[in-house]
Amino acid sequence: MDIKKYKQQLLDQLYAPYKKCLQCPLGSLGRKNVVFGEGNPDADLVFIGEGPGKNEDEQGQPFVGRAGKLLNHIFELVEIKRENVFITNIVKCRPPGNRKPLPQESKTCKELLLINQLKIIRPRIICTLGSSATQGLLEKNVKITKERGIPVLIDDVTILPTYHPAYILRNPKELETLVKDIQLAVKLSQKK
Ligand code: URA
Repeated sequence: MDIKKYKQQLLDQLYAPYKKCLQCPLGSLGRKNVVFGEGNPDADLVFIGEGPGKNEDEQGQPFVGRAGKLLNHIFELVEIKRENVFITNIVKCRPPGNRKPLPQESKTCKELLLINQLKIIRPRIICTLGSSATQGLLEKNVKITKERGIPVLIDDVTILPTYHPAYILRNPKELETLVKDIQLAVKLSQKK
């Protein structure tokens, strides 16, 4: 069987028990959809954001609101196709009022879903978008302005923290930095 089809089946099996997940408080705080993620199940490059916003919660897809439009624009600038990477979040359910996920919510969701998604996809590079995603994955406090753009090798995967696109919507002067970091993530993921 084609590797993509096989990995997609594994992802679908992973998601099946969590379609109405109540394993953390976010499950009963008004979420409409569990937003598992989307893209190439065999991607070399995975992007991880913080959590679904209003649009993502309604549509069941990650990064489809304003921040997602900016991310799509950056993908065009660095000449990659959204369908060739995989995009997900540290928590799969919308935190109420777009608050940051609590550490226990991130930990629960990461252990049940994100870690297993990554075990199936096996990317070469993980680009974490913003401090929540970076902190959630690295399990330490992160100052994103200091740690962005610096690759961290953990086991056989490289994690590259960068800014969240929503931050760039508020601080457009930093757009170039985000583009540069994503360009580096792409380059590392394509390295022979
Ligand atoms: N912000 C995120 O962190 N994730 C999304 O999916 C959308 C906006």
